[in-house]
Amino acid sequence: MIRLRVGSATDTGLVRSVNQDAALVGEDEQVFAVADGMGGHAAGEVASEVALRALRAYAQPTVEGMVRAVRMANQAVLDRAEDDPELRGMGTTLTTLSLVRTEPDGEGPGSGIEAELLLITNVGDSRVYLFRDGELTQVTVDHSLVEDLVREGRLPPEEARTHPQRNIVTRVLGNEPDVEVDPFPVVPRRGDRFVLCSDGLFSELTDDRIAGVLRRLKDPTDAARDLVRLANDAGGRDNITVVLVDVVEDGGRAGAASAALA
Ligand code: MG
Repeated sequence: MIRLRVGSATDTGLVRSVNQDAALVGEDEQVFAVADGMGGHAAGEVASEVALRALRAYAQPTVEGMVRAVRMANQAVLDRAEDDPELRGMGTTLTTLSLVRTEPDGEGPGSGIEAELLLITNVGDSRVYLFRDGELTQVTVDHSLVEDLVREGRLPPEEARTHPQRNIVTRVLGNEPDVEVDPFPVVPRRGDRFVLCSDGLFSELTDDRIAGVLRRLKDPTDAARDLVRLANDAGGRDNITVVLVDVVEDGGRAGAASAALA
């Protein structure tokens, strides 16, 4: 059995007046998420909250079930905006991490073998990083203008973090009835640390600084709080949210899960 331990922190930052980020830190459900809302007045806050509430309601412990739940969250944001003219145009990113099972009687990858996995999904420019064996790697791919520019070779990667248009997202919940959801299945190992975060973290801190905190602070709550503190020290120009999920036990199933994914 996979066992996880979580810590989290969120802050408005030093410039914005409201916190439009939201986090889902479900010890029991084992669904974790970060949403970064956008929209005028209170709309961004509503978008991120509505998305997380729907995610929590519809989440199922399978890959397909989680992708469906994110699509339901998209529909929930659209429906809410439809009901209230003040909320028109609101949207939110949504990044999730959850414990799922491969379906033993399904077709394709994993058929015939039931195994537990972690599933990460992404829409927008919030991120999930994996800290494993002392190395920090970004698991998700941002849906943002700067990411497109980097991929097309028109912007050096080191300039993306500080680019003036780094806030422009190319895919969000609440924009269209159909949303494409990127799934990333990961076979967890004991000692892995997954960082779910809004752009308020990585716009202020380099990967090296994030990794430094993860190396130094073993308690996930301490580490999440310290990351938020450092992002504020670096300028705190946006809302900052961190959910840190540690793999305490991988259940010795890593081998079976690898076979299932092969
Ligand atoms: Mg943000």
